Amino acid sequence: MLTRDIQAQLDALPLQSDQPLIVTDADEVIAQFIVGLEGFLTRNGFWLDLQSFAISGNVKRAEDHSVVERAEVQELLAQFFAADTESLLPVPGAADALSALSKRTQIIVLSNVPQPQRAARQRWLRQHGMDYPLVANSGPKGAAVRHLRSNIKAPIFFLDDLPPNLASVSELVEDVHLLHFIADSRLAALMGPAPDCHLHTTSWDDAHAYIAQALDLAGFTGPQ
Ligand SMILES: [Mg+2]
Repeated sequence: MLTRDIQAQLDALPLQSDQPLIVTDADEVIAQFIVGLEGFLTRNGFWLDLQSFAISGNVKRAEDHSVVERAEVQELLAQFFAADTESLLPVPGAADALSALSKRTQIIVLSNVPQPQRAARQRWLRQHGMDYPLVANSGPKGAAVRHLRSNIKAPIFFLDDLPPNLASVSELVEDVHLLHFIADSRLAALMGPAPDCHLHTTSWDDAHAYIAQALDLAGFTGPQ
């Protein structure tokens, strides 16, 4: 669902309708979310037992390896975002790839960052050479991308690590390039490609090459 707040953020973007658009997620696509979360958990007496592509159910107490209940995991996640949003490491290659692609695309970051950490995330983007407009979404992302699609008459590329977000865009929006990007190779190995995605990768070199080729094929060759 497109809330009034999200629609207002989308409508405020300085987008040109005739230029291609990259819509990238932040956590686990351009920011190393899982590595950061593991550091936070270790500092606080927990660890993440990556047995499946999920956080809830896989957080355990260091002292006895007991599973932490869902409500407490949600509380730990909120504490993690509050403490460490600005200290996450960037995903290798993300800033360089986006910088190169920005010569012939528009770029926005569509992130389900908690509302209290919106400003911190924008500062993080600036600090790491990715000062692109941030849209703080909530829930599935299809409605936001559909709104963007209705205004952009050029290729759109959507990158996300979470299959439900890719499925949401696939269901609601036609003609979007879907890139299933998971920076952490352990997580990527736990999960194959999301249905309907055009590329499944852990590498910004791969994502860059895919987007560049699609732009070439669509005639958006950029500055010569
Ligand atoms: Mg993500």
